[in-house]
Amino acid sequence: MLYSEPLFRPPAEAHSLIVQVTEGCAYNRCLFCPMYKGKEFRVHSPAEIAAHLRDLGSVYGPDQPRVFLADGDALVMETDALLAAMAKVRSAFPTARRFAAYGSVFSLAAKSVEDLLRLKAAGLRTVYLGLESGDEETLRRVGKYMEAPRMVEICRRVVAAGLNLSVMVVIGLGGRSRSRIHAEASARLVNEIGPSHTSLLNLLLAHTPLAAEPDYRDFGLGDYFSETAAFVAAIECRTIFRANHASNPVALEGVLPRDRGRILAQIQAALARCAGA
Ligand code: SF4
Repeated sequence: MLYSEPLFRPPAEAHSLIVQVTEGCAYNRCLFCPMYKGKEFRVHSPAEIAAHLRDLGSVYGPDQPRVFLADGDALVMETDALLAAMAKVRSAFPTARRFAAYGSVFSLAAKSVEDLLRLKAAGLRTVYLGLESGDEETLRRVGKYMEAPRMVEICRRVVAAGLNLSVMVVIGLGGRSRSRIHAEASARLVNEIGPSHTSLLNLLLAHTPLAAEPDYRDFGLGDYFSETAAFVAAIECRTIFRANHASNPVALEGVLPRDRGRILAQIQAALARCAGA
């Protein structure tokens, strides 16, 4: 078997070779995320990585300029071990130039700017990181609590190292009761971090314990668009914005705040369609 399934990657990594240097998610406690609940987290051994690279080369060929390091939080690896794995990838795929990986605030808390600069020198370009919310009460409720100022400090280290930081916020994560608070606190958090990319995902309740809570179950399409509009309206930092994941009911993209007017008009049109339906 080429990969340990299920396998996930961000939409923007559709053309990257996925190399599984770890399996699962080291944290794996977020109540809204069923992605890796069936997998026990582990770091692959150097021998496993070498065998995996041989298998990938025989299936996909040697020309692989972009590589996504899986699974859900490859940056939890010790920096030296991750650098060794990236060197193995470059020797198996000599055209590999741009590496990307998911990280979490928990794994990145252990990475200094120096660690991040070494990873950048080895080819790391983009870190995808789920902020999920800037509202601490929401984060507490869904099992991914960290104080907002600490998240800002960790994320700014990634930006300071010159890496692309692509953050994700989950629309609906505050339920109906905290919708506005979640939207505005999340926009404030993004503004303080200044990530290169910001994506909005839509909370999907299937296979999560949140499905049992009326506050989440009652969050409808109109709530989704209102919350998205509140978030977009409050973004002040320059960031490439996307809400075009398979979970998003309407695809939105642009550069904020430059394209705010157009994006808000698209959201208003979607809201009007909801109201007329
Ligand atoms: S949201 Fe991220 S950190 Fe949380 S369980 Fe899922 S993959 Fe792990």
